[in-house]
Amino acid sequence: MLNLLEGYKGSVEVNGIAYSDLNKAIQAVKGSGEQLTIILNKGAKIKDNQAQEIQELEGSPIYKIKVRQYMTKPASPEFDFHDKWNNGTPMPMRIMVGRKLKETRGMVQMELWGEITEQLTHSCMKCGRTLTNPISKYFGIGPECGGHNYVNPFETDDELREAVKDMQEQLKEIKWTGWIIKSAIEEQEVVR
Ligand SMILES: [Zn+2]
Repeated sequence: MLNLLEGYKGSVEVNGIAYSDLNKAIQAVKGSGEQLTIILNKGAKIKDNQAQEIQELEGSPIYKIKVRQYMTKPASPEFDFHDKWNNGTPMPMRIMVGRKLKETRGMVQMELWGEITEQLTHSCMKCGRTLTNPISKYFGIGPECGGHNYVNPFETDDELREAVKDMQEQLKEIKWTGWIIKSAIEEQEVVR
C-alpha cells in the first residue's frame, strides 16, 4: 500500500513509527502483512521519532519474545533503525527473554538475553526457522546457527542433559539491550 505513495517526499509515520522518507518506511514494513496506519508529513520538522514521548516501565515481568527477521539485520541505508536507536547493533537472536524498560507509542526498549524456557523448543531461537531434529529441540537452536552436529552425539540421557545445561550457560551470555519496533514483535508471552 505504501508503494502507492511512490515519489512522495515528506515524512511518513506508519503504525506510530516516524520515518524521514517513504523508502525507509516501505523497507521497515515490507512483508509484515499487518494493517498499516499511515500519517503523512506530520509536523514537517520531526526527526525520526525523537518527538515521541518516552515512558519508563517499572516492575516489568520477564517476557519471551519473537521478533520479525528484520530486527536481526544489520543497519543499511534502507533500514537505519539500529544506527539511530541501537548504536548500530541489531538483535543477536529472533527469540529472546527479558524485561521491558521503556516505551513509546511505536517502540519498546528491552533488556534481553538468550534462554531455553521449555524442555522442547520448536523454532530456532537465532533465525526463527522450524526445528526438525529432535536433539535441536532440546537446545532451541538449529545445527547451522548453533554450529553443532547431531550424528549420534549422546550416549546417555545424562550426556544430553549436560549438553543442554552448557548451552543454557552460553545463551545467558548472549545479551542485548535496545529499542525494538513494536510491530516487529510477532509473539510475546510472560514466562515469569
Ligand atoms: Zn537457526
